[in-house]
Amino acid sequence: MASEEEHAAGRMYCSSMRPIGKKPPAPSAKTRESAGPMTLGNMRSLGPRSIDATCKACGHREIVNVDDWPDEEPVPALGPRMRCSNCGHLGASVRPDWTQLRGVPGKPRP
Ligand SMILES: [Zn+2]
Repeated sequence: MASEEEHAAGRMYCSSMRPIGKKPPAPSAKTRESAGPMTLGNMRSLGPRSIDATCKACGHREIVNVDDWPDEEPVPALGPRMRCSNCGHLGASVRPDWTQLRGVPGKPRP
């Protein structure tokens, strides 16, 4: 029966058809810039290479270099992981160390 052969051939043809080159939408496009907390990558692009951490228990303040941390790490996410070198408390409030900008030779101000 020729019709059966045709049918089988048709199935094979169909199964070899695949959509290619169709790109899935990039979910990271939105989270990169707009909403959300500042990341270390953002911070570095603005100048500071360290964060200013203040112990929530004793108020001890320390400048912590974050060169080893990935760019996508949100700055606030580091706070709960900071252990105070003074009292040992885990958890600090953190922010970019803007004071670093003052010592850096850059564009002269008008
Ligand atoms: Zn402390």
